[in-house]
Amino acid sequence: MSKKPIIGITGAYVKHNDNMEGVYVHHDYHKCVASNGGIPIILPYINPEIALETLPLCDGIILSGGEDVDPKLFGQDPHLQLGPTTPERDLAEIALVKYALENNIPLFAICRGVQILNVALGGTLIQDIPSQVKEPIQHSQQIDRSQDTHWVTISRDSKLFEIVGSDRVRVNSLHHQAIDRVANDLRVVAQSSDGIVEAVEYIHPTTFTVGVQWHPESMASTNPTMNDMFKEFIKSSTNV
Ligand code: MN
Repeated sequence: MSKKPIIGITGAYVKHNDNMEGVYVHHDYHKCVASNGGIPIILPYINPEIALETLPLCDGIILSGGEDVDPKLFGQDPHLQLGPTTPERDLAEIALVKYALENNIPLFAICRGVQILNVALGGTLIQDIPSQVKEPIQHSQQIDRSQDTHWVTISRDSKLFEIVGSDRVRVNSLHHQAIDRVANDLRVVAQSSDGIVEAVEYIHPTTFTVGVQWHPESMASTNPTMNDMFKEFIKSSTNV
């Protein structure tokens, strides 16, 4: 029996009540990884040193969605519409990004994940799309997260295009932040009609290194194209 790849998924902290606080990862991530042949494990954030100790256990990493990124990490003061931030998680995930890229570990960065990927490599973020972008479309959809809500246009010379097989695709959208200045080592491979960066790839790819602003894990059970992204990611993680 061949070994199934271990996929580390970065977790958030959640407090349910005074006696219940801990790690949170949306169940859609686990289901997607498992249904495509991977073994999902959750990486709680404690500090960057612990984060780096967990990485050698993993064949691939998913940076999951979550809180806003602390703007001090890209040299800005907080915008009035900035939501809750988790500086410890930011630092742990930035350490993971750098290690994964240096060690050719497949990296799938989703929503907050694509923002952290960009900040880790020196880019900046739009802290609040509705107040900082001229004529934005609706990126905080009011329908179920499994439903698509806007188009993205995909660059033809990209991994994403290879997977999707089209230069346009419908995606869900659950974000009010987005990439602003793109890090030097990343390139934009998908955008929405208002110019928001919806996907990036590493410009020195040695393995799967893709970041998307939408949530393919919440669409994958009914959308084969979104599932194909996980299939490809898990396949890359299998060959590590
Ligand atoms: Mn969007």
